[in-house]
Parts: sequence; C-alpha cells; structure tokens
Amino acid sequence: MIQAIFSHFLLSGSHYTTANYVRENWNWNPNPSAIKKILQNTVYIGNYHNIENYCKSIIDKKIYDQAQDIFANKRTIKSAPTNRVYIFSRLLKCADCGQAMAGTYQTHRRIEYYYYRCELYSRRRACTHSKRINEKVLENILLESLESYIDQYLMEYHAKIAAPNPLKNERAKLTKKLEKLKDLYLNDLISMDEYRLDYNRYMEKLNQIQVVDSPKPNIATLEKFQAESFRTAYLQANREQRRSMWRNLIRAIFITSDNRIERISFA
Ligand SMILES: [Zn+2]
Repeated sequence: MIQAIFSHFLLSGSHYTTANYVRENWNWNPNPSAIKKILQNTVYIGNYHNIENYCKSIIDKKIYDQAQDIFANKRTIKSAPTNRVYIFSRLLKCADCGQAMAGTYQTHRRIEYYYYRCELYSRRRACTHSKRINEKVLENILLESLESYIDQYLMEYHAKIAAPNPLKNERAKLTKKLEKLKDLYLNDLISMDEYRLDYNRYMEKLNQIQVVDSPKPNIATLEKFQAESFRTAYLQANREQRRSMWRNLIRAIFITSDNRIERISFA
C-alpha cells in the first residue's frame, strides 16, 4: 500500500486525491494529513531518526525525493499570495455586521488593484454589504482627512469622559452601603442573620452592575499627532511599512455599505 500511495502521489501531485484513492481501494479512511505524514516519513527509505539504513527501505530514494519536491513546490505556490500586502488588513470592519473586511485583488492590464469586502457577504451572502471598497480611494481619503478624524475622535472621547456615568455612581453607592453594613455588624448593632441577608442583597445588585471600561486609547499621542510628518513619512514608505503605520495609529475603521467611513477608533 505504501508503494501505491507514493506512485499515486507522484501521478496526481496531491495528497488530497491520494487520500481519496486510498479510501476507494483499501479498507482505510485516512485524513490527507495522514497521507502527507506517510509521504514525508523517512522510515520508508530505511532512515529512522536520522540513522541511515536503520531498516529495510521499501521506497526507492529517487521516488521519495520526487515526492518531497512536489511538497516543496506546493509550498512556494501556496506562499505566493501571502506576499501580497493589504495595507488595511485586519483594520477594516463592516459597519453593518461588524465582521472584518478582507483584502482581495483584481488584475487589470497587469496592474493589481486591491479591495476590501465584508467577509460575511463574501462567504455566505449573509450581510447586505456587497460593495467592495478600493484601497487606493480609502487611503487617499484617510490621508487627506486624518486631522479631522482625529479631532472628532478626541472631542467625542473627552465628552464621554466628562459625562456622568450612572452605573459607576450606583456601584460606588452599593460599595459604601456594604461598608456601613459591616460597621453595623461589627458594632453589634445588627445580628449575623440580618448582616447576611443585607450583604447578599447588596452583593447581588453589585454583581448585576457591570461597568465596562472600554480600552483606553493613547490620547496623549493622538493629541500630539503631526499629520504633515505622518504624510511625508507615509509617502516614502513601502506597503508593509504603510500597513504598520496605520496599525500603530488605528484600531478599527468602520465602513458603511455605501463605502463611507462611519467612524474610526484609534489605537
Ligand atoms: Zn457585513
């Protein structure tokens, strides 16, 4: 069977179809990964843990090497698309469904154009956000209006900080009540039963209040942000550098279904 696996793999070039072949011909239902393990196992050419001629080889070394070449070529083919750098990868979110917008490209007259599209739409058509957004267009909008996006963000941030937080107040009140209750009990002004009863009541209420503190953006950095020097550095940067420049600055950009920037959350 091992010999048959090797020869089928050399013919088909795929450990997936080889797994199917094994399934159809033997009483075994292997994972493609199990087939891959067999094809890469040096024990079949007699080597075991780097000891040559440890056991009798059942596969010719030439055939074994050809199989390894197929895997090596696959890797290079497979890794090629990852060389494509999407400047906004992992930063864009669909404003409709909250899913990530994944990078995609199209070649026109040998030039690659980059786009982003809602993953929920592209995978299952489960979102109405069908339009893709052009990377270049988005990049220009961001570069041009970066200051105003930051200003708006800082304004909203300070307004939120200044606003009273009713939940926080409620939590502080309950904590105070609990302290008072403890005092009463320690001074023998209430019984253990009374203490327990009220304690449980307050704790239950306290547990219901969950003040979610949103992650703090780096406000000091944003306030000092020099848009002009960012732009100068950006225009000289390559795609990879551009990607990290945006990632250092921005946590997420929400894109509406008509391709507008709904809001930006800064890092
Ligand atoms: Zn969506």
